[in-house]
Amino acid sequence: MGVRGLFVSSPPMNKETTKIAQKLLASSQKVVIVGHKNPDGDAVGSCLGLSFFLKSLGHDTTVIMPNDFPDFLKWLPGVEEIIVHEREREASTELISTAELVFTLDFNSLDRVGELQSVLESCSAKFVMIDHHQQPADYAVATYSDVKMSSTSEMVFHFMDALGQTEKLSKEIAINLYTGIMTDTGSFRFSSTTPTTHRVAAKLIEAGAESAIINQNVYDTNSPERMKLLGVALNNLVILPELHTAYITLTQKDLDDHNFKKGDTEGFVNYALSVKGVVFATIFIENKQESIVKISFRSKGNFSVNDFARNHYSGGGHINAAGGKSSQDLNKTINEFISILPRYKNELTDAS
Ligand code: 5GP
Ligand code: MN
Repeated sequence: MGVRGLFVSSPPMNKETTKIAQKLLASSQKVVIVGHKNPDGDAVGSCLGLSFFLKSLGHDTTVIMPNDFPDFLKWLPGVEEIIVHEREREASTELISTAELVFTLDFNSLDRVGELQSVLESCSAKFVMIDHHQQPADYAVATYSDVKMSSTSEMVFHFMDALGQTEKLSKEIAINLYTGIMTDTGSFRFSSTTPTTHRVAAKLIEAGAESAIINQNVYDTNSPERMKLLGVALNNLVILPELHTAYITLTQKDLDDHNFKKGDTEGFVNYALSVKGVVFATIFIENKQESIVKISFRSKGNFSVNDFARNHYSGGGHINAAGGKSSQDLNKTINEFISILPRYKNELTDAS
């Protein structure tokens, strides 16, 4: 039996999208599931959760990620089956070009998958999008987009529910979806966390997702170098009280000195946001290999970092969490940022 009774009104995924999805999945399909570049807990958790679900319906599924993901996700059930395009270009290109269905999860536009973009654009598969980012692109035959959702992982649960298939919820699915929801909501802290998010989390715990163990696996596996790098980041914190803004910078040397590994800076920006009175927090991370500065933005209240990232840093995301990049050097990037900020003084003051 499904859990529809748990939700206040109708299930979050609408009838039309449900019908299309049902049709697409009516017979066994060759499916590829793709997450975004620099995959996070929600991208990996939602893709693996959906993969286990579709396998249980008899489909032939593979998960492909554009590039590698952090070690703190490498214990997730099914993780060994993920194909990383950057490491296995031929295999992933072949899989996508012969797929009948491609699910794109946790991103809103095909320019979020790096080199995989051209592979996806030239394949003949039908696309299904499941995503919670602002301004979804229109490339899928079934688009399940809801910017109010806590996470794509929560949406995968609603997808299963809309198809009347929650009895297929296995321990493997539950662990993956719980991890995605937990990481994308900052452990159920961000305002995107709704009563329904908690109801879904409860269902996942009942199905075998052990919260304490998942928390330990994700959050209590820090390397000593990461902790020291956090120290450097906190030392580099700059607070601009009149603008209710705080920012952190990390140079390539800071990263090199601390044996930087993917995922090590995850969450650092939240320390800047935790300063009293700050509603806008940013971290600038120098990446000399790609000759860019990667930027993460976080905010509180109605100051939209999605708009800020789109307007100035060819990025995007959500209202309170977004990312972007700059191709100027680190100093110029920061000087430019400081020169842009006063234009937002009223908005920042209103949000504080
Ligand atoms: P993070 O700062 O943790 O990398 O990303 C925060 C949110 O912004 C995530 O939902 C992520 O998907 C999105 N995001 C990060 N970088 C970019 C980017 O360069 N472009 C766009 N459109 N979204 C991004
Ligand atoms: Mn997400």
